[in-house]
Amino acid sequence: MKRKTWETDEILEIYHQPLMELLYRAATVHRENHDPNKVQVSSLISIKTGGCAEDCGYCPQAARYHTKVEGNDLLTVDQVKAQALRAKSNGSSRVCLGAAWRNVKDGKEFDNVLCMVRELTKLDMEVCCTLGMLTENQAKRLEEAGLYAYNHNIDSSEDYYKEVISTRAFEDRLETIGNVRKTSITLCSGGIIGMGETVEDRAGMLKVLANMYPQPESVPINALVAVEGTPLENQQPVSIFEMVRMVATTRIVLPQTQVRLSAGRTQMSEEGQAMCFFAGANSIFAGDKLLTTPNPDINKDMELFQELNIKTQAPFEKHAKREPKEELTPALGENPRWTRPGHKIERNELARQRRN
Ligand code: SF4
Repeated sequence: MKRKTWETDEILEIYHQPLMELLYRAATVHRENHDPNKVQVSSLISIKTGGCAEDCGYCPQAARYHTKVEGNDLLTVDQVKAQALRAKSNGSSRVCLGAAWRNVKDGKEFDNVLCMVRELTKLDMEVCCTLGMLTENQAKRLEEAGLYAYNHNIDSSEDYYKEVISTRAFEDRLETIGNVRKTSITLCSGGIIGMGETVEDRAGMLKVLANMYPQPESVPINALVAVEGTPLENQQPVSIFEMVRMVATTRIVLPQTQVRLSAGRTQMSEEGQAMCFFAGANSIFAGDKLLTTPNPDINKDMELFQELNIKTQAPFEKHAKREPKEELTPALGENPRWTRPGHKIERNELARQRRN
């Protein structure tokens, strides 16, 4: 069967349908491809927090902004394992290890991350990493360690991306995604709404994701959490109906993907979250913190699941587990020249100056 190529206009048409039509269509696609009463629970562990050299305008971990985030060095394998076990006992089937790095660098720290992946895979959990830009060689080494998924968000449309980040380009993101796709690691890639982008930008972002072949196995849809001290601190939260429209549209254009409610869930009522599940969201991030921003308490999530008769998804239900292999690929010690686009974003500059 010929594969469909999505155009922005078509996606916009879906997004702007009368809400009840949109919900009905999205829920139908959802049922055709997933169990509508199952949601995956994933936990995010910040293995290295803060002090990042990048200028992502939404991120409190960027060293150049004046936020209250306290940084820490890379956690030890034992610390990460303890957190993963806690997440598992709270119902998570997946764990995502996040490091505030521009890109992965070969050496002791990356070797420790590989060790974390090997250890956590033994816990029978899906292990995901989000470590920044990645070379093909590094992706191969993560694959050998048994990594299940790699997260690298495209954040927004290609046009609006330039309004939010100036220290690396949209193409760098696509290159890392391409490197992940050269392995059997599944791909997690999504974005953020509420950063001041237009609805066309949202559709543009979905167009990029929907036209990937294969489509990402997992797409997180984040609602911006405006953190004091970041350039986007004054952004107003997105309304629940915008979020529902975004989730429903994502479900329609990415039918088989796990659509994840990520940052911004604390701003949503339980009814709003239930509407998102009806519209096709079938994954959440659990735990009281998402890297550095607040998230609903896991007990609250489980109460809501009980209320809605939602079951949690077991690990490896969608894609088979991959056992760690012998380490065959040597580190190349590369020093790749990732892009530094060099354009300035005025509000990012102002936020940086306020700090200095
Ligand atoms: S989003 Fe990631 S790369 Fe960007 S500033 Fe935050 S930690 Fe650094």
